[in-house]
Amino acid sequence: MDKTSYAEVAVPLHVFQTFTYRLTPEQTGHAEVGARLVVPLGRSVVTGYIVNLLDDLNADLVETDIKDAKELLDETPVCGPEILQLARWVADYYACPIGEVIKAALPPGMSPKRKSAQIIQPKLRRFVRLQQAPDSAEQKLTEAQRRVLDTLAASGPMLLQALLKTANVGASTVSSLQKKALVDIYVEAIRRDPLAENLGIYDVEHNLTAGQAKVLAQIEEQMNTGEYSAFLLHGVTGSGKTEVYMRAMNNALSLGRSAMMLVPEIALTPVFSRRLRARFGDQVAIFHSSLQRGERFDEWTRVRNGDARVVIGTRSAVFAPVKNLGLIVVDEEHESSYRQQESPYYNARDVAIVRAQKESATVVLGSATPSLESFHNARKGKYHFVRLPERIGARPMAEAKIVDMRNVFARHGKPRVFSDELLEAIRETRERGEQSIILLNRRGYSSFILCRSCGETVQCPNCDVTLTYHRSERVIVCHYCNHREAVPRVCPSCSKKYIYYVGEGTEQLEEMLKLLFPALRVARIDRDTTARRKVFEQSLVDFSAGRIDTLVGTQMLAKGHDFPNVTLVGVVSVDAGLALPDFRSAERTFQLITQVAGRAGRGDRPGRVLIQTYHPYHYSLRHACAQDYEGFFDEELRYRQNHSYPPFVALASLLIHGPDLGRVRSDSLELRKQLDLVNQDRRCRILGPAPAPLSRLKGEHRFQILIKSRSRKHLREVADAALKAVADGGANLRSINLEIDPVSIM
Ligand code: ADP
Ligand code: ZN
Repeated sequence: MDKTSYAEVAVPLHVFQTFTYRLTPEQTGHAEVGARLVVPLGRSVVTGYIVNLLDDLNADLVETDIKDAKELLDETPVCGPEILQLARWVADYYACPIGEVIKAALPPGMSPKRKSAQIIQPKLRRFVRLQQAPDSAEQKLTEAQRRVLDTLAASGPMLLQALLKTANVGASTVSSLQKKALVDIYVEAIRRDPLAENLGIYDVEHNLTAGQAKVLAQIEEQMNTGEYSAFLLHGVTGSGKTEVYMRAMNNALSLGRSAMMLVPEIALTPVFSRRLRARFGDQVAIFHSSLQRGERFDEWTRVRNGDARVVIGTRSAVFAPVKNLGLIVVDEEHESSYRQQESPYYNARDVAIVRAQKESATVVLGSATPSLESFHNARKGKYHFVRLPERIGARPMAEAKIVDMRNVFARHGKPRVFSDELLEAIRETRERGEQSIILLNRRGYSSFILCRSCGETVQCPNCDVTLTYHRSERVIVCHYCNHREAVPRVCPSCSKKYIYYVGEGTEQLEEMLKLLFPALRVARIDRDTTARRKVFEQSLVDFSAGRIDTLVGTQMLAKGHDFPNVTLVGVVSVDAGLALPDFRSAERTFQLITQVAGRAGRGDRPGRVLIQTYHPYHYSLRHACAQDYEGFFDEELRYRQNHSYPPFVALASLLIHGPDLGRVRSDSLELRKQLDLVNQDRRCRILGPAPAPLSRLKGEHRFQILIKSRSRKHLREVADAALKAVADGGANLRSINLEIDPVSIM
């Protein structure tokens, strides 16, 4: 094949256009759609993806403008036809560049921006095996050489390093044997296995309860048809959803298909992935952002080769290259961590539904607190609706009680972190040899520094937020941009010395508890400790084994974990979450309380939950305490309808950001003007521009425009046309983020 051909390439950048390159005859013979191609772009070189192959140039292109491609990286495309098709859907639906989507779909490190950057490769190691039996040559062998041969004879092929150690010889001994053709040294990829370490976790396969069996039968019935089907499984916390998921996954395998389970970032406990490994063995591959790049690459490769047929993972695992997909489970489907918070802004739950449709698979969305959208869809009949209304073993739901902090304040004349009631409960729980979880809803609520004299707080110089005090390092830190500074001695605003700390972080809660109860074994889990994965895993394992009495932490403690000895959950404050300027704040608070209540009383002893708040009559707290999902749903749905929020309208947000306030403001106004022009018939409602709730972030000013419409089609037409108009007018589209279906409008 010596004819020149061309490749249309998407690049892994926030660029909507694709580029055409000339392929060499050699490349032409091997290039396939979905393979990576190193190409020049402007003054740099990037790793792009072939999205189309062309024999002739498109009419609008001129041969002399076309650059040569550099290097074809794959003979087998990294992005097969199913994944490419899914990526195209994501790019189209969420209005983001296909190159960015493909990049997000691949393990990190496979699309370096510069060619010089390290590309992730298999990890190769040297192995040694016996080549021929030593007969006549035997006499001439040294002691050491003989030890090598004996070792190999006993244990078969070995890693060179291990052989040297076991036989207690140097490398020269082995190479001398290689020269005699007695052994063979060869190179092979070894697997980097994230679950290699044995933490002593086993799996018990339960006999299904009648309720579980009924739900499973309904799922299997649909799965066995081989057609697309979707389920919403509303099962209260502790109702045994996980066992149903695992059985359903097993059913997919026995149909000769593969299965995938998505979990939110925070719920992917080391305990759970190891249980899956125990049940499904080496067929399980795990996709999780805290794995090392090499581990992720190897897991991905095992899936692509068909060696692993069960995938468990977070958001991006929805793009795993599994073959013949039969089932996708989306656990805790309401979780906002399924939404990627940067471009491409996709929601893995929604992508899972589309993938299941495209591949004729079954999708099961499960939650104790389904998102409003999913429950609404189930009510409308878009999903099969199945329920597990009771806990396993008819265990009662934990009893939830609100502690009215206004009374605590009145009694003590000043705010208190812990009410006497909660402290007493922690003490009693410990005395009974049971465990407790203390949760701080820290989003927007953490310890900061306030001057009593002028009332100023210490703000991040780059972001519109207060800095958080970290006692262990004696610094104040911005949780958005990681700006850090030493704790000031005097107020930066008025120079007086009346600085004091307000609010409390998890660190402070931990210290207070240690001070009040010296014998209490307390550990803390939050974003600071989870950055260190090993510490995080260890704490959960220790808590599970009863070596810790009380676990203090943020939202991430609320979900998924199953610790049977936990009988008390205390929520130190929920109010900050309720006050967030976001239409989902009531829904989120309801979910948080219900989920956290679900952590208590999962074993034989009943659990209780204490929720400290200054808003004891808020409807989301009332319904959460009553464990009344449908009551909450009805009330919340009315609110959404009255205020025209999803699911009654499609919503898009446009975030205009940049370092220069004047420019950001004028660009925002211009965008609004263009939106109005294309929205002549007023089929969309446009709000703003207004400063975004986080009006400054990482040194940039931020304005927001919201678009609502009953018609998703109109919404997109208006947004696309206005963006095109401002781009034609010279605006930089990189400073405008369009988000379709935003999960939060912060
Ligand atoms: P959920 O995910 O619905 O909150 P889990 O799946 O964690 O609930 O199940 C709660 C507990 O019940 C777990 O300890 C689990 O091992 C146990 N369990 C699940 N199914 C059964 C069963 N059929 N019989 C006995 N125990 C079960
Ligand atoms: Zn900052």
